[in-house]
Amino acid sequence: MQECGHIVPRQFDVVGYREDGYLAECILAEGHKGPHLVRTPEGQFFSWEFDEKCNCEDCLDHEDSNNRCCLYWEVSAEDVEDLLKNQE
Ligand SMILES: [Zn+2]
Ligand SMILES: [Zn+2]
Repeated sequence: MQECGHIVPRQFDVVGYREDGYLAECILAEGHKGPHLVRTPEGQFFSWEFDEKCNCEDCLDHEDSNNRCCLYWEVSAEDVEDLLKNQE
């Protein structure tokens, strides 16, 4: 299975600063529906999606699509199981 692999923009906000080069890549299947999902080395899970309603300068500047605001929230391991099952 090919993973989505989309990295959280400004992952610092979500998973903190990482000295080990960890990238918060999405672990769902490529082309999945709904929010992206990342797993931290500590075993925490976060869902995130772009904040489509944000009108700040960064979000309106589409040239740098990785510098946009996003919404994120922690998800429990049980919810992650459901997400992984229902991703088609
Ligand atoms: Zn994804
Ligand atoms: Zn914004």
